[in-house]
Amino acid sequence: MKSHVAVALPLPVSGNFTYRMEGEVPAPGTRVLVPFRRSEQVGWIVGEGDPSGLKNIRAILDVLEERPSIPSELLALARWMSEYYVAPLGITLRAMVPSVLSDGSREILRLTPRGRSADPSDPGLRGSGRLVSRARSVFAAVRDRSDPVRVSPLRKHLGLGSIWPEIRLLAETGLLEHETLRPPPPPVRTRKVVRLRRWIADLAEREEVFGRATRQQECYELLEAAGGGVELARLQGVEGFSRSVVTGLETKELVDVCDEEILRDPFHDPPPEAPPKWVLSPAQKLAVETLIASLEGPAPFLLHGVTGSGKTLVYIQVLQEVVERRGGSAIVLVPEISLTPQTVKRFRAWFGDRVAVLHSALSEGERYDQWRQIRAGEKPVVVGARSALFAPVPDLGAIVVDEEHDGSYKQSEAPRYHARDVAVVRARLAGAICVLGSATPSLESWRNAEAGKFDRLSLPVRIGGRPLPPVEVVDLRRNRSDPGAQGSGAPDPAGAGSPGDPRGSILSPRLVAAVRERLDRREQAILLLNRRGYASFIQCRACGSVTECPNCSVSLTYHRRRARLLCHHCRHEEPAPDHCPECGSGDLSYRGLGTEQVERVVAESFPGARIARMDVDTTGGKWSHHEILGRVERGEVDLLLGTQMIAKGLDFPRVTLVGVVNADVGLHLPDFRASERTFQLLSQVAGRTGRGSLGGEVIIQSSLPEHYAIQAALDHDYVGFARRELEMRRNPRYPPHVRMVNVIVSSPDPRLAADGTDGAVKWVRRTLTKARGSGPGGSGRAGAARDGELMDLPELVGPAPCPIERLHGRWRWHFFLRGGGIAVLTRLLHRFVEVYRPPSGDVRVSIDRDPVALL
Ligand code: ADP
Ligand code: ZN
Ligand code: ZN
Repeated sequence: MKSHVAVALPLPVSGNFTYRMEGEVPAPGTRVLVPFRRSEQVGWIVGEGDPSGLKNIRAILDVLEERPSIPSELLALARWMSEYYVAPLGITLRAMVPSVLSDGSREILRLTPRGRSADPSDPGLRGSGRLVSRARSVFAAVRDRSDPVRVSPLRKHLGLGSIWPEIRLLAETGLLEHETLRPPPPPVRTRKVVRLRRWIADLAEREEVFGRATRQQECYELLEAAGGGVELARLQGVEGFSRSVVTGLETKELVDVCDEEILRDPFHDPPPEAPPKWVLSPAQKLAVETLIASLEGPAPFLLHGVTGSGKTLVYIQVLQEVVERRGGSAIVLVPEISLTPQTVKRFRAWFGDRVAVLHSALSEGERYDQWRQIRAGEKPVVVGARSALFAPVPDLGAIVVDEEHDGSYKQSEAPRYHARDVAVVRARLAGAICVLGSATPSLESWRNAEAGKFDRLSLPVRIGGRPLPPVEVVDLRRNRSDPGAQGSGAPDPAGAGSPGDPRGSILSPRLVAAVRERLDRREQAILLLNRRGYASFIQCRACGSVTECPNCSVSLTYHRRRARLLCHHCRHEEPAPDHCPECGSGDLSYRGLGTEQVERVVAESFPGARIARMDVDTTGGKWSHHEILGRVERGEVDLLLGTQMIAKGLDFPRVTLVGVVNADVGLHLPDFRASERTFQLLSQVAGRTGRGSLGGEVIIQSSLPEHYAIQAALDHDYVGFARRELEMRRNPRYPPHVRMVNVIVSSPDPRLAADGTDGAVKWVRRTLTKARGSGPGGSGRAGAARDGELMDLPELVGPAPCPIERLHGRWRWHFFLRGGGIAVLTRLLHRFVEVYRPPSGDVRVSIDRDPVALL
């Protein structure tokens, strides 16, 4: 029996491909291997193929699985995503499965016991003819090699073209087996780690110990900031310390170099002891009852609960109902940085080994294992970051999206989906309940709740009736004697007492006093500054030039410990200059405060305090943030300093002070969400304190204390902020009042980028004009006003260069499509990708629907 199937391939082209299929057609969602151009591709059968008008249709090479890797429910979801986000179906499907499954080179052959004992020249294949003689050569070749044998090199070696029919015959005869190789675990079993043996709390002693051995001191301080241990390879690699520096520290008996087993995934430790027997607060009880009552007739819920109001317990109670009493499964999405031991521990305390944790540190093989267990129904609770949404759980009963406002739910490459929005769709398709939780809901969700699309539940008070912490603001303008001085001052390598001492302008006397109080009382404090590195740019005082990235139109960030300049976008790095590359002057200023500099100032201001820093630079190792947080939990850290990484999810009762070193970072970005993000960040970080009986307070430093985002954070006034911000976005119109699409055209050649943009904009403008004119009312304005469909057309805004005009060596332009009906917009975008051809050359057009970042 011959038939035709449609196959979706993970390639940047729209539409599916038709192939011939002999024998029984597998279910849609099944993975197959197909010839494509001159190579092979893994793709998914997505339906019947249409052979009409096609010549030379090629045959499928192999069916790679017995049971579809994409169950029908996920296939329906992928279709929706592909349509809405204008991404090829194959690319969308690939994003749903572990990467192992979309790699065609993993197809291997293994001899069976029967194959091993068979006579190589006559293995007992029945029949004659071409197929059998070719199968004999394939068999002989597999026998000659030690198994397993990879299919594609074998085929090349034999020069036979496709050998899948032969493989199938050999498999049917029982001589060999075909399978998809699971990648081996990462090869390194142990690693050398440099561990601190002794902490030198006293500053005078520190000076005595290190003297002029500044590299040793820097290395020691890095270890301190990074939680006490760093891999030797990392110290010698990116951190740039020589082996002799480490040896020097060993001689001083300050560090040990140990062979350690690669840290096992801490989420695989035995589950923690049984959960405490809590009594739900009245608000929790109401929320849980409402949610359980709605399990049958699902509508999305927005759970607006202030920080510390016990949202997690509400999720857990709902999950218990779904999993334990109804035998279903559930998915809990959290932002990657909230995937901390604390969060995971809570779920594992209730559900034990039935929890699968999907996080970014899993290797390909581990991810694949988890995926198989989930699919087999062994892990009915899945906790993970964005892509955990596609976990193939059977009988999905609930999806929880915690911190639903978080920007990391949006994927920045195709398919550019927003996991919160897709969660609502998946829940609807599966007949499951969807709960979006946050202390600071996104304005999109807030408006959906106001409009009645979501049901709103609130947890207005903290557990135990604890008050939200009082927040005060320190005006940095009044605190600073020289307004230009902030963040300047030469970074002398000795680390102390530099002439342009920036201390006073970085930490106000008020904040210093508050920190000191905590240190005296043996409590803990958190300091937030959402910018990493030492200084965000170096400027020459003589000629004013700023060192920029050669690939991106952004300044390079100075990292003092590594003595390098880094681009935070493309990762370009170069040695830090000591003279201006433009004019040769040695008079450089270091501007734009970063966490590395704050760490130094804090260490100088509070000698003896145990400080840990948590940002991208100190959490390079697989589990280093777990190490740092573990130290905070055990009370081995007095001051935790970091970027937004420390603002979420942490629940430490001994943290009684949160200080925001500069609240204005990010407030002036050219992005309509800048105020919203600032408000969210301040509210989240403020929520890290006052969680225990010791109470807590928050001090925010700002040069713009009257800004409404900061004022609202002072009062914990989400509702007031939302009202004000929604008003601000009315004119000009921005989401959530309208839908928006950001179309970005980029090329390494600035002319091509501009021409490509020009062509795209002309196409869109022409199409919109035509659509307006062809409406039933004719072209006049009155006609347009009368016709609903016409009113639904989006408006074109732009084009303009992107705020970051050059990125990764590509020049970038963009324009927006704003407003319009959802379906109209979808149709227009699909038409655009099918019809519009950019000028030839390296020009990329990407479509970002409901964008989260506009830079
Ligand atoms: P949120 O996520 O809303 O910030 P959490 O879920 O972290 O709040 O809860 C705050 C703290 O209160 C946690 O330490 C949690 O274990 C505790 N908690 C939650 N519910 C209860 C309850 N009903 N009784 C006692 N403690 C609770
Ligand atoms: Zn200069
Ligand atoms: Zn760059």
